[in-house]
Amino acid sequence: MTTLLNEQLNYRDNQLQLESCNLSSVAQQVPTPFYGYSKARILQNTARCQAAFAAHNIDIHYAMKANSNLHILRLIGSQGLGVDTVSAGEIQRAIAAGIPAEQIIFSGVGKSAAEIRLALNTGIGQFNVESAEELALLGTLAQAHTQPVKVALRVNPDVAVNTHRHITTGTRGNKFGMPPEQALQLFRDYADHSCLNLCGLAMHIGSQICDAAPYGQAVSRLLALTKTLEAEDIHILCLDLGGGFGIDYGNGRSLSFSEVAAVIADTINTEVPEYDGKVVVEPGRSLIADAGLLVTRVNFVKEAEPRPFLILDAAMNDLMRPALYQAEHPLLPVRHTDDGGFRQLDVVGPVCESTDTFARDYPVPNDVQADDLMAFLCAGAYCSVMSNSYNSRDIAAEVLIDQDTFQVIRRPVSQDDLMAFED
Ligand SMILES: *Cc1c(COP(=O)(O)O)cnc(C)c1O
Repeated sequence: MTTLLNEQLNYRDNQLQLESCNLSSVAQQVPTPFYGYSKARILQNTARCQAAFAAHNIDIHYAMKANSNLHILRLIGSQGLGVDTVSAGEIQRAIAAGIPAEQIIFSGVGKSAAEIRLALNTGIGQFNVESAEELALLGTLAQAHTQPVKVALRVNPDVAVNTHRHITTGTRGNKFGMPPEQALQLFRDYADHSCLNLCGLAMHIGSQICDAAPYGQAVSRLLALTKTLEAEDIHILCLDLGGGFGIDYGNGRSLSFSEVAAVIADTINTEVPEYDGKVVVEPGRSLIADAGLLVTRVNFVKEAEPRPFLILDAAMNDLMRPALYQAEHPLLPVRHTDDGGFRQLDVVGPVCESTDTFARDYPVPNDVQADDLMAFLCAGAYCSVMSNSYNSRDIAAEVLIDQDTFQVIRRPVSQDDLMAFED
């Protein structure tokens, strides 16, 4: 049997359990498909992350776009983490979940004036600005505020990372950030600005990165800029190094928190040992992905040539990552049997799109049949947040599992709910 990737996930009496909660009993009370999260795993991930980065005095802001459910935010916030947000909606959620405004960073390449106003009125801790145009708009809108606004400029360090081309963000030609030379010029231009306090440099080089070396190279570019600015008496008080730490989706490749923390700290200690500002990272996926499952039921095993199809009741609207970036999520049967061996099937959902395909030629136990429950692993990040109602499907429920109990933390969004907006 596949390794289960997560110590909170195991078979007991041949039934898949998250913590000590039987997923088939949850499925008796919650309609499938549904997302299930292990509270213990989220807390373990958070604690491992904190231990690794605190050892080098690095602060953590959870990139909440990975999973912005209020209960998950409260859980992660309760551990003292700040958040990185990318929209006014995320700022509203963070505040609703009790995250202190000062602990909110606002990133994003296309903030609207309305979003910037909301962030200013909320009194968030830091704006990560991605263009000269955005900085000019922020400067205008900030005039209505008495407090100086803390700004970091997001630099595109132009480093190559080995990840899917749809999730690299730190190379030339990418919409994110600005070249270092432009950041330098903006720091000079805004040095005496009355309402903006340009005092940080930010980067985020991509996602699902399993190699620490690009972090070293990118931090190095930010530090070179820090030194140039320092020589002009412009002080950098915050280096925000983004997230992107890869997790194991079943291929054995991942990036450990302690490894990336060490590379960051070594680079800073070697290149600018006198740096005494803050250092921040923004992990999203690595805190939550492996704590979550998507539990689904088999609708049909459709015999076909060249391969049969396993047709699930989950579809691309529940788990979009395979359609969006050819991502692969391990799939396990909820009821474990040792007898019959495996056969290769194409695993698909019911939506009327050919890209509604989760895996091709995937080993599925021979005895799997209609009505059986299955679980996609590593579905805690970038799954429920991307869910939608395409094909007029209900939006799946989310449950938080705590030992042998569970709590529905988002009820399914039904067609009645959605139709009510169309009155
Ligand atoms: C998405 C994002 C992150 C988090 O990325 P992960 O791959 O989930 O760790 C961090 N910072 C910014 C600016 C982002 O856009």
